[in-house]
Order: sequence, then structure tokens, then C-alpha cells
Amino acid sequence: MKLALIGFGQAGGKIVDEFLAYDDAIGGGFIESAIAVNSATTDIQGLENVPRANRVLIGQARVKGHGVGADNELGATVTEEDIDEIQGAIDRIPVHEIDAFLIIAGMGGGTGSGGAPVLATHLKKIYSQPVFGLGILPAMDEGGIYTLNAARSFQTFVREVDNLLVFDNDVWRSAGESVADGYDRINREIVERFGLLFAAGEVGNGDHVAESVVDSSEIINTLNDGISTIGYASETVDTTGNGLLSSFKEEDGFDEGTATNRMTSLVRKSTLGRLTLPCDVSSADRGLVVATGPPEELNRKGVERGRQWLEDETGSMEIRGGDYPMPHRDEVGAIVLLSGVTDVPRIEKLQQVAIDAQDRTENLQANADEEFTSLVDTGGELDALF
Ligand code: GDP
Repeated sequence: MKLALIGFGQAGGKIVDEFLAYDDAIGGGFIESAIAVNSATTDIQGLENVPRANRVLIGQARVKGHGVGADNELGATVTEEDIDEIQGAIDRIPVHEIDAFLIIAGMGGGTGSGGAPVLATHLKKIYSQPVFGLGILPAMDEGGIYTLNAARSFQTFVREVDNLLVFDNDVWRSAGESVADGYDRINREIVERFGLLFAAGEVGNGDHVAESVVDSSEIINTLNDGISTIGYASETVDTTGNGLLSSFKEEDGFDEGTATNRMTSLVRKSTLGRLTLPCDVSSADRGLVVATGPPEELNRKGVERGRQWLEDETGSMEIRGGDYPMPHRDEVGAIVLLSGVTDVPRIEKLQQVAIDAQDRTENLQANADEEFTSLVDTGGELDALF
């Protein structure tokens, strides 16, 4: 499907940059336009792939290019004030060519956390295309302010978009990795999963015809509303024809049984392995299975079996399935999109920690005000200058 990507804040901008590189690398063609919005000059200058004309600096009157410093209320305010600047960049998008908008932001900071929901509200008012969000949750050890920002932003963002796709940094960190290296790796994981999904809905006329192509409307209908999570599993395949399995292959070189079993097991691995947002799979309302890989290694039966298994696992009757053929790849994979999930312990934890942080901040503020008053107050024995 064709998307207009809008990266908000530092994380949002970097992930859009990475999406552009990935779309190019796989020849996906799922990005129609890409925009980056930020209140910090250095962050926006550091991007590599987003065209310069599509980088929008907001909040100059208030923060002079220095960012909003993890203050997401200020992030929301400067976005409202400068919405025309952002609209100016959106006006250059051939909107009739796109299937949806996708706003990407880290939920724990200031600019993206506050601004992304404001932009979603604005786009929904003007355009008929669906507006999706990709929200990145902060790791738990980032601290109270990031958790509080994320919980408040999540609550608002999910209400304003047609569906919020979620990625949880906490689940994807590796021990012993620097933050910067970690983000580079995590960002690649993000764009591979979401990129394959969106590219699957963008198989053009000239491409290899899939046995059952995923249509952009199937992705949109699966997303529909609520929140979503994605699983992905892949396996290297021997595409030279000289592998161990070649002796079992049928005359046309395709072993139906192997391909079917492989896809069924990849769908299971993908669903039961690490999701972008861990959840109880049985709480999903809708799902989509996409088989990726060289067309000669994919078959309809494998997707169908995987799809049936997911129906049983979720108890949902609304599980769709299809192929995304990628010639010349040596990997077969399964993307599983679970949408309308409701049993998500991580979100409940995030909200609880945020409520505690909010209460603590209010108490501390009240105490600090009292202590400050008693520090300065001399009981009327000293007169202030004026
Ligand atoms: P903003 O610029 O004020 O919107 O804030 P940032 O985007 O810098 O940070 C918001 C949150 O996003 C942080 O708390 C991190 O959890 C996360 N984050 C920052 N940079 C990256 C990144 O490159 N990748 C990922 N996955 N998360 C990031």
C-alpha cells in the first residue's frame, strides 16, 4: 500500500529515514512521500534520507530550534501553533495517490509524544484516507517522566488515529549494547516488520504475480481500529537447487509438503515469538498472515494452513492471508499482524507506573511549594524590597 510517512520528533524522524532506506533496498515502493517534523534543529539536520524540503522545524518562536525537552504538553502546543507549516509540507503530497497516512513517534519524549496526536486530529479532519500511528514505547528504565509522557500520549494518540501500531523498546533491548547502537538495530527491526507488511500491499503490475496477493484494503480492514502488534519469523532457504531437499523435490523443483510445513511453522513462530508489543494473542480481534520470500518457495496451502492455525489460536473469524513474493531472496518469512488486541499487560503496567509517577510529582511539588514558602517566609520580620 502507498503511504505518506510523517516522522515526529527524533525517534520518528530516524525511523522514517530507516523506512526510506528499507523501501529502497527491497524495491518495495510503499512510500509515496516522507516528511519529518521536529522542534530541534540538530535532530532534523542529522537525517539522511528525508528530502530537505520535507523537513519541518516547528516551535521556533518559543524554543528557537532547541527542542521542547521532554515536555510533551509544550510539544502539543507548538504543533497546534505551527500546524500550517506542517500542512505546507503535506500540501506537496499527491494525497489522491496514497492509501493512508502513517505518523511515527517515540511516545516518551516531548515533540513526537505531544505533537503526533495533534497532527492525527488535524489530518482526520481534512482527509478521507485512514490515519494510522506507529507509537514507540520507552524502555521501563528510562524513568518516570518518559513513562508518564508515554502513557498520556498513548491515551490521546490511540483515540485520534484509526489504528495505533505499537513497538515496545523495552522488549527489544539487548544487554551490553550502547543506546545508540541499540536504536540502530531496533530501528532496523522496526522497519523490516512494518515495511514488509506495507510492501505486501503494494505488489505492482510488473511484479511477480503472487498466488494470492495481499491487497491494501485487506491491510486497512485488518487495522480498522484499536491497537496492533506484529510478529515476524524467517528461515533461510536453499535457492540453488543443490540443497539437501533437492532430491525430494518434484519435477518442477517445488516440494509442496516442505513449503506448506515450513510456512505453518513460521506462522506459529512469528505469533508465539517476540511481538512488537507482547500481548495475549487470544485477545486479538482480527489478523493478517503474509508469506514472504522467493515465489518458487511459497504456496497457497502454507498460507491457508497458517491462517487456519491463527484462527484457532485467536478464536477470531476475521483472519486474512496472502503472499508477498520477493524474487532473488534466500529467505522465506511469515509476518503476522494482530489487531484489536486488548489483553496487553505492558500497557497496564505503563499506565500504573505513570499514575504513580504523576501522584509522586504532585506530592513533591506541593511539598516543595510549602518548603519554599517556609524558607523565604520570615514571619513578617523582614520586609521585601517591593
Ligand atoms: P522527541 O524528539 O522530543 O519527540 O523525543 P525522542 O524521539 O528523542 O525520544 C522519545 C522516546 O523515543 C525516547 O524516550 C526513547 O524511548 C525513544 N527513542 C529515541 N530515539 C529512538 C530511536 O532511534 N529508536 C527507537 N526505537 N526509539 C527511540
